[in-house]
Amino acid sequence: MNVNTDQHADEEAAHPAAGVGGLYDRNTELVDGAADGNIHFGYWEGPSDSSSFLEATDRLTDLVAQRVRAGAGRRLLDVGCGTGRPALRLAAASGAHVVGVSISHQEIELAQARAARSGLGDRVRFEFADAMTLPFDDASFDAAWAIESLTHMSDRTEALREIRRTLRPGGRVVISDFLLRRPPTGAAKEIVDHMCEVFQAPSVAGPDEHWSAVREAGFEVVEFTDIGENVRRSFVEIPEFLGRAGASVEEGADIEFLASADSFSRAATLPEVGYVLMVAERPVG
Ligand code: SAH
Repeated sequence: MNVNTDQHADEEAAHPAAGVGGLYDRNTELVDGAADGNIHFGYWEGPSDSSSFLEATDRLTDLVAQRVRAGAGRRLLDVGCGTGRPALRLAAASGAHVVGVSISHQEIELAQARAARSGLGDRVRFEFADAMTLPFDDASFDAAWAIESLTHMSDRTEALREIRRTLRPGGRVVISDFLLRRPPTGAAKEIVDHMCEVFQAPSVAGPDEHWSAVREAGFEVVEFTDIGENVRRSFVEIPEFLGRAGASVEEGADIEFLASADSFSRAATLPEVGYVLMVAERPVG
């Protein structure tokens, strides 16, 4: 189902990330189905871990949650919140207040419905906003997190600077994102480039880019952990899901993500592709 009112068109035109919003608007119902609202990779403890994709994606959320240090009464920001499952999981486990923002109207609608169903609507709110220009006061959050959203942003440093502005001094941001361990060449480069094209990601950041963006935005790096081998199985699970979903997608539906299945499968074996969990803090004073 596409949402395409004039109001939405105007708002999207006013936002630099309109293309990404449209991408998620068109594909939200599809990707929401992969892991019941976790629109991100899964984490497995090791080769003998038989967790389902859903369990593994919740575990990744929990790794982020531990680092966010969510607690009762704290005010948290989810940057690029998808359809809300991670924010609701954090809020339920911690008693924190969470605001989630996304550049997709469709996602926000589904996230709001999910919040209403969860009974956590008094503590969790979702709203349409561009992370590059957050509609929040300075220093209004205790912590923030961004799961697989910074990869879409036109300027990673600027996006982080904007997150920093909204955090109180001493507040932290937890980033869960793709990592290119070293620049790919040949066939590997083609696969990575195709993934970036499908997902409207300017590029996949290398270690230096991840570190420098965070530092230039005014944060101090607290942790940088490559969990690439723990999430790798996602590259197999996602195309399997897309294959099953593809069989039932209506003719004429906008299905860009289905086109990524082959690249996902091929990316599964690329040693260049990692995945980073990063924690950074806004210095006090
Ligand atoms: N964090 C969610 C969704 C990840 S998918 C989850 O883990 O389930 C990437 C998300 O980033 C989508 O919600 C997309 O709308 C959001 N996004 C991308 N660019 C954005 C921008 N400029 N402003 C706000 N959200 C953005």
